[in-house]
Amino acid sequence: MSGGQVSVDIQCVVVGAGVVGLAVARALALSGREVVLVEAGEGLGTGISSRNSEVIHAGIYYPSGSLKAQLCVEGKQRLYAFCDEHGVDYQRLGKLIVATDEVQCAALRRLLEQGRRNGVDDLHWLDAEQAREREPALSCVAALWSPSTGIVDSHALMLALQADAEASGASIAFHTPLVSARCTEHGFELHMGGAQPMTLSCRELINCAGLSAPEVASRIAGLPSEHVPKARLCKGSYFSFSGRAPFRHLVYPAPESAGLGVHMTLDLGGQARFGPDVEWVDHIDYRVDPRRSEGFYQAIRRYWPGLPDHSLQPAYSGIRPKITAPTEPAADFIISGPAEHGVPGLVNLFGIESPGLTSCLALAERVVKTLRSL
Ligand SMILES: Cc1cc2nc3c(=O)[nH]c(=O)nc-3n(C[C@H](O)[C@H](O)[C@H](O)COP(=O)(O)OP(=O)(O)OC[C@H]3O[C@@H](n4cnc5c(N)ncnc54)[C@H](O)[C@@H]3O)c2cc1C
Repeated sequence: MSGGQVSVDIQCVVVGAGVVGLAVARALALSGREVVLVEAGEGLGTGISSRNSEVIHAGIYYPSGSLKAQLCVEGKQRLYAFCDEHGVDYQRLGKLIVATDEVQCAALRRLLEQGRRNGVDDLHWLDAEQAREREPALSCVAALWSPSTGIVDSHALMLALQADAEASGASIAFHTPLVSARCTEHGFELHMGGAQPMTLSCRELINCAGLSAPEVASRIAGLPSEHVPKARLCKGSYFSFSGRAPFRHLVYPAPESAGLGVHMTLDLGGQARFGPDVEWVDHIDYRVDPRRSEGFYQAIRRYWPGLPDHSLQPAYSGIRPKITAPTEPAADFIISGPAEHGVPGLVNLFGIESPGLTSCLALAERVVKTLRSL
């Protein structure tokens, strides 16, 4: 695309080249559309998509019938198949969700039922001895075994989505923030900033701007403001474990209210990391406060009493794109299309927190369906 106040007409513009925007651009290009993916940053997935646990979730936790439940279960299958087809590195390690007292045991039983209702049909109940056969270092009274949980190289996944999208005719413009937009008779007029400001017109506009999705939506003149949720930021910090942790599978505690609890994941090199914790914040600051390690030692020692002193190092953090207040229950994913807000050709994705990485391919199919039903 050239510079200056150039006006370019395209069929479909996707905003945000995180894992979701990439999957959406790919699916729209595969459906035969002309697609341009615009990204404010200098590269792929520098937002939420490169600051998460990289876990392929099974789909256990989410309320039955929710988009999170449906798209996680469907997305997991699509993601494993996509990784096989495109040579993206992953490991189906399996995970243990552990109860360390009788109250948590009851929570775990409810989780087993919830998972089964969501269609996760491979979960097993383990007593303490069976759990320790799998992970001898664990201390627990019972555990759920989820064999279909895995880990994925999220950056390799994004590169593969980009390659597939481009092979299907999509193009990506980096350093190209959407500054504002206006609904027109035939679609949208978009004002792009960056070093080469320009005006684009398009018939379809998909907002996959992650943490900025509510802000981007609020800049679309013609979209009623009641269809734009308030953005809230919930930070999660991670600590890495120095040395080799004695685990072969992922280990999660019974879930807490605002997250899944400080869990132990392994990266593809076998290195253990712990996180994310829960900290509601007013602005984006990815620095990890070393003092938070105190809470980590406490939380981890409930299920791994052998965690040595001074073994945790601040690693990185990510920010959940929440659309509910700390006191409210977690919201479902929101795919807000014309049926909801009345603007033809516009789809806003809000609150795409975990399991958004797992669900990206299924989310993308939903967006295509939403546009098809116009
Ligand atoms: C701590 C944490 C742990 C998680 N762990 C997991 C997990 O283990 N498994 C899982 O399935 N999910 C997990 N998730 C969720 C998952 O990471 C996200 O759902 C997913 O990465 C969201 O991708 P996205 O493309 O919507 O957002 P992003 O990756 O943030 O992409 C949005 C893009 O939009 C761009 N953008 C913003 N504004 C504009 C603009 N005006 N113009 C152009 N571009 C713009 C940004 O630069 C960014 O690149 C986790 C999330 C967090 C925070």
